[in-house]
Amino acid sequence: MVAVRRATAPLLLAGALLLTGCSDDAPAAPAPAAPAPAPVVTRTTTTPTPSPSPSSVTSVAPPSTPSTPSEAGKVVVLDPGHNGGNGAHPAEINRQVPAGRGQTKPCNTTGTATNAGYPEHAFTFDVAQRVGKALADKGIKVVYTRQDDNGVGPCVDRRAAIGNDADADAVVSIHADGSEAAGANGFHVAYSAPPLNAAQGEPSTRLAQTLRDTMRTGGFSTANYIGTNGLSARADLAGLNLSTRPAALVECGNMRNATEAARMTSADGRQQFATAIAAAIEAYLAS
Ligand code: ZN
Repeated sequence: MVAVRRATAPLLLAGALLLTGCSDDAPAAPAPAAPAPAPVVTRTTTTPTPSPSPSSVTSVAPPSTPSTPSEAGKVVVLDPGHNGGNGAHPAEINRQVPAGRGQTKPCNTTGTATNAGYPEHAFTFDVAQRVGKALADKGIKVVYTRQDDNGVGPCVDRRAAIGNDADADAVVSIHADGSEAAGANGFHVAYSAPPLNAAQGEPSTRLAQTLRDTMRTGGFSTANYIGTNGLSARADLAGLNLSTRPAALVECGNMRNATEAARMTSADGRQQFATAIAAAIEAYLAS
């Protein structure tokens, strides 16, 4: 996102509009120093203490059937970046709102698009719906920050509030980037750093790492132009700064890259992104 703060929105937008790159935030804040070493995730798997086996002759049921997934009943907030009506409502989306760390940012941005004009907001909305369906099928409660792709906003601070108010176990923002750097491709996952609260610490970092690992396993390449090994520590993203729940932002790839644009433009490709993101969220919730 750092690399894409240039005008990338389609030409049909009104000239007065503040054009943007992808991120949930518009130009501002210098890149974070980000020296924060990625915390090593230590996870102790506690082995259940074996219950004394009854000396009865009758067979007993196994101690606990693992058929009830631990993620069932948890709450996930999915935040598809931008919105289809943003481009036609510059006054609303350019309004300054709190962005965390004492900063303000525009309410929202238009997002980017492929060179052929397939917009990021449509991509993120469709992927989020697919992710949500997969999660709901597992008994996870899914809350979306927007219900359709033709509205305006909501503002980035409101998106964060939706996750906070839902007491979400995980909040995942879905975006796609728009870097015009030659050869720039791959996905990356942003998390808030330095953390502003406990949820932004280990939980958010682990959520970001799980997304990174699962997407990589799912056949997606990490970005070759931003971040480190598919992760990006950010201090300038409002949605992450304002979250009091475990939160991460996935930039699925670079819409300006022909190969990635083709994948994002196809329904099959979007399902691949969604499958990987859903699997990552489930893995995080189960960990
Ligand atoms: Zn975006």
